Amino acid sequence: MAKETMNKEEAKKVIEELRKQINYHNYRYYVLDSPEISDEQYDELMRQLIKLEEKFPDLVTPDSPTQRVGAPPAEGFLPVKHLEKMFSLADAFDLGELRAFFERVRKLLPGQKVDYVCELKIDGTAVAIVYREGRYWRAATRGDGEVGEDITPNVKTIKSVPLVLRGEIIPAVLEVRGEAYLTKEQFLKVNEERAESGEPLFANPRNSAAGSLRQLDPKITARRKLDFFAHGIGKIEGVEFESHWEVLQYLNQAGFKITPFASLFTSEAEVEAFCLEWEKKRHSLPFEIDGVVVKVNSLVQQKLLGFTAKSPRWAIAYKFPAEQQVTRLLDIEVSVGRTGALTPVAVLQPVRVAGSTISRATLHNEDEIKRKDIRIGDWVVVQKAGDVIPEIVAPVPSRRTGKEKFFQMPKVCPVCGSEVIRSEGEAVARCTGGIYCPAQVFEHILHWGRRGSMDIDGLGPEVVKDLLERGLVKNVASLYKLTKEDLLQVEHFQEKSANNLYNAIQASKNRPLSRLLFALGIRHVGAHLATVLAKNFRSIENLKKASYEELISIPEVGPKVAESVLAFFRQPHNLEVIEELKKAGLKMEEEEEEKKETRLSGLSFVFTGGLKSLSRDKAKELVESLGGKVSSSVSSKTSYVVVGDQPGSKYEKAKRLGVKILSEEEFLKLIGKEKVS
Ligand code: NAD
Repeated sequence: MAKETMNKEEAKKVIEELRKQINYHNYRYYVLDSPEISDEQYDELMRQLIKLEEKFPDLVTPDSPTQRVGAPPAEGFLPVKHLEKMFSLADAFDLGELRAFFERVRKLLPGQKVDYVCELKIDGTAVAIVYREGRYWRAATRGDGEVGEDITPNVKTIKSVPLVLRGEIIPAVLEVRGEAYLTKEQFLKVNEERAESGEPLFANPRNSAAGSLRQLDPKITARRKLDFFAHGIGKIEGVEFESHWEVLQYLNQAGFKITPFASLFTSEAEVEAFCLEWEKKRHSLPFEIDGVVVKVNSLVQQKLLGFTAKSPRWAIAYKFPAEQQVTRLLDIEVSVGRTGALTPVAVLQPVRVAGSTISRATLHNEDEIKRKDIRIGDWVVVQKAGDVIPEIVAPVPSRRTGKEKFFQMPKVCPVCGSEVIRSEGEAVARCTGGIYCPAQVFEHILHWGRRGSMDIDGLGPEVVKDLLERGLVKNVASLYKLTKEDLLQVEHFQEKSANNLYNAIQASKNRPLSRLLFALGIRHVGAHLATVLAKNFRSIENLKKASYEELISIPEVGPKVAESVLAFFRQPHNLEVIEELKKAGLKMEEEEEEKKETRLSGLSFVFTGGLKSLSRDKAKELVESLGGKVSSSVSSKTSYVVVGDQPGSKYEKAKRLGVKILSEEEFLKLIGKEKVS
């Protein structure tokens, strides 16, 4: 919009359109508790309107959304006139805007020292509770600031709201203002229940708190387990305070919870630091916060500063970047994993959420999509909180046009065209293509090379992709047919990298049977079970011949694992790969030697300092005879550092890396040689 060049006539039209839109979104947000656009998008509309009204002040009308708070009461609730107007707060979306607020305050209070109180801005819904002679009398929503809705019986169900004020100081009339909210845990529970009963999900804790309070049946409110933080007072008769800080202390001793971590600061710098600190730490709390409220502490100063039509000049809400946005779900694609699991992935119209652009989000599985009633073409609420991967919270059903499509899991694999099956009782659909499915082969080769598996350094996703694309490998067995010349063809590979990968592949032939079993990727057979199977069957040949009964007789093996092992060896292509691996020289049997002395196998030791009862060489010999390794430097992979007299820097490093440290005595005990001859 080219605001600069707009004349009054044009501005009037735009203003009217903006007001119409804002009023509509206010209604959805405050009355229906079901917003259609994100707060950020709403704030943007509001900013545009404020800017235009500032430029053309005579176009400001008393009924403009910039001149009032919230929305009028909904039908079904009795209207309540507040004893004193309930205001909203002006926002600061960054430090610059916070500093502009400080500057305004300084200008209006020339030469005065100003202290500030900082409170967490709880993402709940505003409530005013009136006490008469210390007794709970009436509670109301904020509504449009002048008139709210009577929710007296609903608020009464909140356990942390006192019905009788505590202490000696009992004002004749006291209007307590605060925030009713749901903890994150409770919010999830409420949404789970709603999903089960087919009701639309709440987009965030604030909407769910508001929705829970505004129930005509207070029993429903009670079940939602709301909580309440007091953060100020409206009308008060019979008692006077000097500062907001004093008010908070009073409310606390009268029986209310006040917002945790509320702090009194004497400098602007401390206020800024508090805001930045909580922006980082916001996820550590059990409830959602969306900012920090900064208030001038002195009530005399507050009075001098006064109010605008909508908000006090003595307070501001420092808002954190939005973590939710509304965007279009353009499509649902399906990706194929190593075990053939098909995962639906949302393709989104790119949108900025919490500082990063999001264009894809996992949808987990078909049931999840059904549960949330997400359709292709929907407008959806996308959330990214902290380090959590982006997720789709809910669709916005009111924005549907009727052209949205239901998602259906494909009947055939999108990569290889094999049949897709979904076993009973499983949430996941799978491609049956196995070794013929390029997506599964790719994932399987990657798994083969990982640490803990066959441990092939340098076999990363780019290399595997390249090898597959050039037709140099078709499955894990063909890795062992690769020559150095073949590897030189890999993109960016030179003599050295080709040699390294070649050697790493060759070295992997010596991995024990347990690793091979794990690397084969038999479903449900993780690293631990692979070791159990190797120990019990001692060779691939034996495992291949094992019956269901034999398998299930092993304590760690359940029916699911037994079935899966049998199914694996029934597939001819798996048998072929095993045959090829055998020819390539991989270990198909548990080594006898290992059977004798394996107490320390897989463990690595580093020695530092002088040992009393044996030499370093002797210690090394002992460790190796028991299948362990001795290394000269400490890394995070070292199992133990044995510390003798006057240890060196290795000791410090071990402590830093959190490697287990043994004294000489503990070491001897571990290897079963308490006395060394
Ligand atoms: P606000 O949420 O920005 O801040 C004011 C409110 O903060 C107060 O009324 C109070 O209830 C609350 N608060 C929490 N902790 C507090 C504390 N410690 N001290 C004082 N107050 C505290 O303002 P608002 O007027 O309640 O709501 C406006 C918000 O609602 C904006 O963020 C806007 O984006 C959103 N909104 C969104 C839509 C939409 O369609 N998405 C529509 C309307 C409004």
